[in-house]
Amino acid sequence: MKSKNIFSQDNHLIYILVTDICNVNCDFCMCNNKRKRDNLIVRGIVKDNLQELTSKCKLIGISGQGDPIFNQNAVFDILKICGRNKQFELITSGNIPQKKFMIFIKNMEEIVKNNGSFLRLRFSLDRHHLSKITHNHFLWLINYFLKEEPSHLELMFRSITTDKDFVEKYVSKELEKANLSFKLENLNAIKTKLIINNKSFFICYQSIVNPTNYGIKDKYDIGTYVDCLEKKYRKDFTLGYICAGEKPGLDITINPNGDVLFYGIETEVIGNINRERVSYERITQFVTNSPAHTNLVLIPFKKILSKLRKDVEFSKSIDRTNNPYWIIRNLSVINKKKLYSILGNIKESET
Ligand code: SF4
Repeated sequence: MKSKNIFSQDNHLIYILVTDICNVNCDFCMCNNKRKRDNLIVRGIVKDNLQELTSKCKLIGISGQGDPIFNQNAVFDILKICGRNKQFELITSGNIPQKKFMIFIKNMEEIVKNNGSFLRLRFSLDRHHLSKITHNHFLWLINYFLKEEPSHLELMFRSITTDKDFVEKYVSKELEKANLSFKLENLNAIKTKLIINNKSFFICYQSIVNPTNYGIKDKYDIGTYVDCLEKKYRKDFTLGYICAGEKPGLDITINPNGDVLFYGIETEVIGNINRERVSYERITQFVTNSPAHTNLVLIPFKKILSKLRKDVEFSKSIDRTNNPYWIIRNLSVINKKKLYSILGNIKESET
């Protein structure tokens, strides 16, 4: 059994999914079957748990199995209770009327400014979201960041496919219509820099999940996409931890119902923050007691994939899934026992 000292004490990433409500109704949404109108309420034991867990995190992500704009109280509470000088990011499609969206952004800005924290806003921008949203804030956001230059906020765009051409054409058309001169700089296969008036906005691309279910073909296969991630993070890509550091952290997701799971390895519920105390000590213990989880966290994902691909059924599912954060979840639905057996028996020495 691995010693718990191999894991970092504070190099973790946490994704807090504050709601499962969304009004966009994307065809490919992986959370459509999860809509129970669950909202995280940040008080009592939930607040205590979040304060303790986030105190050990390098990055605190706020998202949803829906859109966090539909549980704004939880968003504001999380920004407030995590203490000072924190690094946050929030993922949204912003599909609410502009005035309400503006108030939401300004409220968040005020909280992070008061706390000396920093919030990166990751705004959805791709063919699939744009075809469904009814409130489009792209130009408003650009203008707001150009004019107000909020010191504690960053605006970044996220595309859930690697279809750069579509996004770049859309951005060019909208900015030309608004008479804004701009430059698009290709940084790498999954990142572009948009420069307007010496101000930069990054556009990041990810591979779409389960593309064949929707008759879509993504630009990169899974191996090429993992190569892109390794270049982006400048380290081997492993599922357990994103933040580079001396020792691996343990990245977790908290679902709107309070369940705690590993980010990208959502096969087991580690605990529930509504009902019990969940600490990083407990999470570390869980990993060290599970050879499958330990290997997933420590062994580069490309090596894990090559082992899993030896099984024909799993190999087909890996190709179908196409996105590294959903592969283990999907394989565990096919055959969890087989999955854990393969994962648990991978020896670091043979990889
Ligand atoms: S915006 Fe996100 S959560 Fe909402 S339906 Fe689309 S993919 Fe699902």
